Amino acid sequence: MPKMELRDFMEQYLLYSRIPITEITTKAPFAFAMAFTEEPQCRNWYIRQRFKDLHVDVDQFCCLELACWHLEDLTQTVRKDQRPSPEKFVIYWEDFRAFGIQHPSRKFCIPIDYCPWCGKRLPQFDYYTKYRKEEE
Ligand SMILES: [Zn+2]
Repeated sequence: MPKMELRDFMEQYLLYSRIPITEITTKAPFAFAMAFTEEPQCRNWYIRQRFKDLHVDVDQFCCLELACWHLEDLTQTVRKDQRPSPEKFVIYWEDFRAFGIQHPSRKFCIPIDYCPWCGKRLPQFDYYTKYRKEEE
């Protein structure tokens, strides 16, 4: 099967841009799904376009892959007293202004210092600000 060209992918974008990324492989037509998963050109364009549609700056993230998970709400902003839903595994921890990975038990989060996709250093857990705020 010939790979899908970016131009064709872009033309089909509107048809499938509402499908959650976790369901593209099962709900979008095979050629589109393959382009999304296997063609970096298509995948990156798709992620940038979704953010553009939402008027959110994609470049605030270290890379498009982290942005992608954030986009799909698999990265959820959580506070210490909240529990994210089970399907959310990369979490932005508001209290600490940092990212973490949720343990499948949902009982705790593991702080991550580096992006799992691009390896760049992520904002470090800001314990200082957090506990200062609680003391005030
Ligand atoms: Zn990254």
